[in-house]
Amino acid sequence: MDTDYAIIGGGVVGLSVAWGLLSRGRTVTVLDGDDGSFRASRGNFGLVWVQSKGMNQPRYARWSQRSAAIWAGFAEELAANTGQPVPLEQKGGYDLHFSEETLQATVEKYETLKAQLDGDYPFEVLGHNALRIEEPHIGPKVVGAILHHQDGHANPLKLLQALAADVRRMGGRVLTGKTVTAVTKPDAFRITCADGTILGAGRVILSAGLGAAQLGPSMGFKAPVRPQRGQVLITEKLPKLINRPSLIARQVDEGGIQIGATNEEVGHDDRVTQPGLSGLAAEAIAAYPALARAQLVRSWGALRVLSPDGLPIYQESTEMPGAFLVTCHSGITLAAAHARLLPDWLEGTEAAPDLEVFSEARFAVS
Ligand SMILES: Cc1cc2nc3c(=O)[nH]c(=O)nc-3n(C[C@H](O)[C@H](O)[C@H](O)COP(=O)(O)OP(=O)(O)OC[C@H]3O[C@@H](n4cnc5c(N)ncnc54)[C@H](O)[C@@H]3O)c2cc1C
Repeated sequence: MDTDYAIIGGGVVGLSVAWGLLSRGRTVTVLDGDDGSFRASRGNFGLVWVQSKGMNQPRYARWSQRSAAIWAGFAEELAANTGQPVPLEQKGGYDLHFSEETLQATVEKYETLKAQLDGDYPFEVLGHNALRIEEPHIGPKVVGAILHHQDGHANPLKLLQALAADVRRMGGRVLTGKTVTAVTKPDAFRITCADGTILGAGRVILSAGLGAAQLGPSMGFKAPVRPQRGQVLITEKLPKLINRPSLIARQVDEGGIQIGATNEEVGHDDRVTQPGLSGLAAEAIAAYPALARAQLVRSWGALRVLSPDGLPIYQESTEMPGAFLVTCHSGITLAAAHARLLPDWLEGTEAAPDLEVFSEARFAVS
């Protein structure tokens, strides 16, 4: 056998899990696809976000909270190990509202979730004037915001770089240009790549993002993941304009304002469109009018990896015990949980988190 674990997919999910397993002394080989692959990990919005997660499943809210709570320690360890800082700010985040009705309706939902979480859901409602004290550049059309104190944001590309560097430092092999075409289990796992590479492994993690939809069924998974496009814009570097991030805009550690993202069901088309970008810009200017004068420097489209209910999927294959499907909608937020907590579940230790609600049983035809 070549490796304890073969990890199919070297995005933020696969690398976070690889990091966690290597920290526990396992040998790990990450097989990542070719340059034409869809890579959500390189096109996302960088929020480490709790609010609005798990409105219909409090366990998902809890899981996001657990990850957010251990994110800073995780980022610090990565930085100490690699000398590459992973910028992170966790001083709360906003859900901005342009109407009293939507603000009120959202607050009611948050109150319900807060009760389900035994009160551990620290948010406050800021009217326009209170918000303006926190965010002097907020526009008059914003009637108010929900400030959730567990929210924050990170630099997702630096996270990815630091993860890859630390995985290698710990002896993990990260092989690129290795599109896996078949996984069989005569005895140990046998993994075949398009270029003819064959790898033997004791266990396999399928964390191939959208690629899981093709490979998953042959490994006994349903893997019902679909793409959803998000278009994103970024401005030139600006002096401090935005204090805390929101789903509309955030000021990144390097100074640019990132604006996004659309939610579009357009299959595997990851291009940007003029209406998509104009809509984003208009909303951001309504929130922060000073942005009307900002120069845009870049735009891109990327595909989210969504399950039917938007929750993560954590499933061991019944057909191929020792093969696990790991996929989620918010891989940046959950990076710390995947690195520090998920390995207990994979290894079946006493500390394993209860992830039953995230199994594929919920997709069973009734
Ligand atoms: C616009 C946008 C905004 C987002 N904003 C946020 C946010 O603010 N906060 C947050 O937490 N999350 C956010 N996300 C989601 C986050 O980016 C994803 O959850 C995360 O990147 C998923 O990582 P992944 O490793 O599962 O997938 P990917 O990054 O897509 O990586 C999958 C990898 O698998 C490889 N692969 C595929 N098939 C095969 C195969 N057969 N063999 C070998 N390798 C294979 C590919 O080459 C690829 O590198 C956003 C996503 C988008 C698109």
